[in-house]
Amino acid sequence: KPSGSTNFIKDIINEDLKMGKNNNRVHTRFPPEPNGYLHIGHAKSICLNFGLALEYGGLCNLRFDDTNPSKEEVEYVDSIQMDVKWLGFDWDHRLFYASDYFEQLYNYAEQLIKAGKAYVCDLSPGEIREYRGTLTEPGKDSPYRSRSAEENLDLFKRMRAGEFPDGSRVLRAKIDMSSPNLNMRDPVLYRIMRATHHRTGDAWCIYPMYDYAHPLSDAIEGVTHSICTCEFEDHRPLYDWTLRELNIESPPVQIEFARLNLTRTVMSKRKLRKLVEEGHVRGWDDPRMPTISGLRRRGYTPEAIKDFCERIGVAKANSMVNIAMLEHCIREDLNFKARRVMAVLRPLKVVIDNYPEDRVELLEAGYNSENPELGSRQVPFSRVLYIERDDFMEDPPKKFFRLAPGREVRLKHAYIIKCQSVVKDENTGEILEVHCTFDPETKSGMSADARKVKGTLHWVSAPHALRAEIRLYDYLFHKENPDEDEDFKTSINPDSLEVLSSWVEPDLARAGAGSRYQFLRQGYFSVDPDSTGSNPVFNRIVSLKDSWAK
Ligand code: ATP
Ligand code: MG
Ligand code: MG
Repeated sequence: KPSGSTNFIKDIINEDLKMGKNNNRVHTRFPPEPNGYLHIGHAKSICLNFGLALEYGGLCNLRFDDTNPSKEEVEYVDSIQMDVKWLGFDWDHRLFYASDYFEQLYNYAEQLIKAGKAYVCDLSPGEIREYRGTLTEPGKDSPYRSRSAEENLDLFKRMRAGEFPDGSRVLRAKIDMSSPNLNMRDPVLYRIMRATHHRTGDAWCIYPMYDYAHPLSDAIEGVTHSICTCEFEDHRPLYDWTLRELNIESPPVQIEFARLNLTRTVMSKRKLRKLVEEGHVRGWDDPRMPTISGLRRRGYTPEAIKDFCERIGVAKANSMVNIAMLEHCIREDLNFKARRVMAVLRPLKVVIDNYPEDRVELLEAGYNSENPELGSRQVPFSRVLYIERDDFMEDPPKKFFRLAPGREVRLKHAYIIKCQSVVKDENTGEILEVHCTFDPETKSGMSADARKVKGTLHWVSAPHALRAEIRLYDYLFHKENPDEDEDFKTSINPDSLEVLSSWVEPDLARAGAGSRYQFLRQGYFSVDPDSTGSNPVFNRIVSLKDSWAK
């Protein structure tokens, strides 16, 4: 029984169940080609396929669609499994490789040949294209179309045996060269290609095409609903033709949905690979990448990504989702979960002149006022502090509620301070120190806070603070849609990474790899894997300001 919100795919499944199709089984699959790392678009497909299986008490396979050895690598196979697991989905023992079916797929091809439904064609790739015609012009029959089944069978066997050079012959389906659908004009089913496959090695020199291998892989695995993105809609007749001509019983049904597009990024593995190979980012898991591994490294949680996929829903029409919505989801997730601590990203020294030089107070500070269960820590307070450079102005406008000469602010978890004077560099005029006095009657949580001040600043105690490397990220592209340009790299943002040397409160010495915090007034941060004991590194996941209109 389905729960939660509905969509057109669930409508189809509900109808199938009502009609008693497939013995009331729901069986989906997520079929990545291992030619790159998974991205947030794949997460949508993963959530959809595994989500449907969970919801209907069905099954979902993880299948590597590894029929094109020239682009596929074991590194990608491993990363894909890691990413699916991290998202929280479990394929149990249902992990498959299309390459495991090569023998079966070959046998099916012989069956098509014997039935007069496939033939070996000696046209060159260019000639095949030429003969195919266009949307407005019908195609022409290949001169090899009328070969006998015996001759085709013999040639196909010899293709497999390696008697012919790469690209010299193909196996084609015999369908209809005047079909209005170009995919039905005798599509290629097999090509000759000498390439070492990451699993089958050099056992094969012919490889099946996606449109042939996919429906049969689905059928072999007992998949009932084969969900893919809309660009395959025109391939559905071929999907159905393949299953029909081979008399597959209870054939799987292909259903298309709109792929996810996100603003300010690109989402094709080919383009993402370019960014990696050309050094625009540091790797597939660079925190600026829309890959699952990049989002993980950035500090995104599986929950936020799944929530995002749920919110965007499933539809038929392509659209562009604003990346602000993804950011909204991680803020929502971390708002309660994350400890809130203090870090001064761009420090300015503050000296509290009336605070004793040798005194250190440990102030009790709750981690998250909205979630007291997270507990508290002690924050050292002393005579010399750092505040954010932006939080001080020598000559501020009226509406500036932070620190300025003669003005008061509250230091979070501590006291109200008042600025008395500044020390400047004699040559440059740069402000080196701000001198203040504190009011001992205003300790946070102690007095009845008779005096109200508008601004509350975060700070750290200079002698106690830890140095930390802070990485701030901007979008990889200036443009909402980088794909608008002929070359998507035209709108690359050269300043998408800013590295700061900052001060964080000593409590963060215990921040373990991958842990996430809110740095007060600065955003959510996570510990990067580059982090070491002597050089902690934090990534800004997202700032606090939410531009997503709910
Ligand atoms: P890309 O074009 O980004 O390289 P792909 O479609 O070639 O992606 P596959 O490895 O074949 O990548 O994808 C595995 C599954 O994920 C397919 O079912 C595909 O339809 C789905 N998928 C890929 N990109 C998206 C996306 N942007 N939104 C939703 N689903 C996607
Ligand atoms: Mg694909
Ligand atoms: Mg692709």
